[in-house]
Amino acid sequence: MTAGRYAPSPSGDLHIGNLRTAALAWLFARSTGRRFLMRIEDLDRVKVGSEERQLADLAAIGLDWDGPVVRQSQRSDLYADALADLRALGLVYECFCTRREIREATSAPHQTPGLYPGTCRDLSAVQRSERRGGRPAALRLRADVGDFTIDDQLHGAFTGPVDDVVLRRGDGIIAYNLAVVVDDADLGVDQVVRGDDLLGSSPRQAYLATLLDLAPPVYAHVPLVLNTDGQRLAKRDGAVTLRDLADTGQDAMTAITSSLGLPGDTLAEMLAAFDPSDVPRAPWVFTPPTT
Ligand code: GLU
Repeated sequence: MTAGRYAPSPSGDLHIGNLRTAALAWLFARSTGRRFLMRIEDLDRVKVGSEERQLADLAAIGLDWDGPVVRQSQRSDLYADALADLRALGLVYECFCTRREIREATSAPHQTPGLYPGTCRDLSAVQRSERRGGRPAALRLRADVGDFTIDDQLHGAFTGPVDDVVLRRGDGIIAYNLAVVVDDADLGVDQVVRGDDLLGSSPRQAYLATLLDLAPPVYAHVPLVLNTDGQRLAKRDGAVTLRDLADTGQDAMTAITSSLGLPGDTLAEMLAAFDPSDVPRAPWVFTPPTT
């Protein structure tokens, strides 16, 4: 049972860029005979009412999904099991670093900004208790590779860095990188279509999957939608949600289909003409209508 999925974080209304990515995920899945699943990534940053509005907007553009909506907040046992498996393999360690310490350490020469420099990786018991200082520790993966290669339908074989990613945050919340790997495998997701802002996270996630004896999915990281300044589209750019656009007399789906060079203005019409290899590789610049 193969499947694709859309996995929104319920932190606000979806904008036309999110809807376009969701439409593409659906088109990739349906055009390849896969099931399509809906997973709410509500471990963090939940805004009340947002999930309902997101699901209503997705249904309004004609997107359907198989089975019940899955919520990460209801799957803690699965994540705890995966963490226990990694611990049993000796691949988990406590990290006491603050964000500031990591920022400072990674601004040193020969360090790559954004990658964990390994400060807490090999502490002795004494050093650990010195560093602990009353702060709850985060848990990190003891990665034994520096990079990993994924298979992406738009980017080909993509190799990116792997570092000691956080598995559980200091506040006890399971980290996105672990949850996404566990969920995709558990739900039978073998095709991950999402925005290309996440391309750089995929080598870490695919590597983590192999450590858990899970098969990494095939990826398709699709170009983001940008504003007229060339930055990632955001709510502050104006009329960008389905409701805003409807209020200004714009049909979001017509804009999305034409941005993909596809005929029609419904998902069903797009599906008939969809070919994954024709997905535009360049970002789509969206000019919000003036209100
Ligand atoms: N929840 C993430 C987001 O909304 C997407 C994660 C994923 O597709 O793997 O940005």
